[in-house]
Amino acid sequence: MTVHLVGAGPGDPDLLTVRAARLLAEADVVVHDRLVSRGVLDLVGQGAELVDVGKLVGSHRWSQDAINELLGALGHAHTCVVRLKGGDPFVFGRGGEEALALRAAGVDVSVVPGITSAVAGPAAAGIPVTDRRCSSGFTVVTAHQDPHTDRALDWDALARLGTTLVVLMGAAHAGAVAERLQRGGMDPATPVAVVTAATCDDQQTTRTRLDALASLAVRAPAVIVVGAVAAMDVTETDLWSQLTPVLDEGVPA
Ligand code: SAH
Repeated sequence: MTVHLVGAGPGDPDLLTVRAARLLAEADVVVHDRLVSRGVLDLVGQGAELVDVGKLVGSHRWSQDAINELLGALGHAHTCVVRLKGGDPFVFGRGGEEALALRAAGVDVSVVPGITSAVAGPAAAGIPVTDRRCSSGFTVVTAHQDPHTDRALDWDALARLGTTLVVLMGAAHAGAVAERLQRGGMDPATPVAVVTAATCDDQQTTRTRLDALASLAVRAPAVIVVGAVAAMDVTETDLWSQLTPVLDEGVPA
């Protein structure tokens, strides 16, 4: 009678929480998104039902209403239902909406946080999202809404913040994001790193500058990191030679 909203982490099954792994082994049903990796799904117990709501049904995707309805029905029918979402369930995952819909349907909800790609993506490329020498904060945004509309995000403000900017769902919008930030006054030479399929076998990291981002073909799923830290790879021994030019260019320490 409980639906557990579980974060699956960024991809590598070793990055699941202990609780997530236990619930996957115990679940009667697991309802998951497209981004959840094969390795994580392999931890689901034998005999459990798997429902992929990221899949096309005919030519349509599952609507959010249909997913909410399914979760409500499963929550009434089974003891342990896992709603498995990539990363953390409450970071651009509509986990909050699903929790509210379940409570409205009289189903108990528990939340199991996961490691979000917003932090694990940069980390997998050796990029610390903060560094007291050049970034005293990080801001996570989605590029899914057309940045030109300015409906949800104030890109001019983002361009001025001076914190690391982590952009999710940006693969198809990288050029527009770069253009919008430069229009807001961000230095065209600002370091950028694009981390695709972070923590997965096919992880790929590309480093560039803001003014060259538009010419990059970005493969999804990707985290785009914008800011001085994007030039770093702290897993390399040569950290200081990477950082020095960035700091020398006058990024506030
Ligand atoms: N709840 C998720 C985010 C869902 S939105 C989380 O906390 O990570 C989906 C976006 O997440 C993708 O478009 C991409 O920007 C990012 N993403 C998820 N997994 C990723 C991965 N392994 N590598 C790079 N980006 C990833």
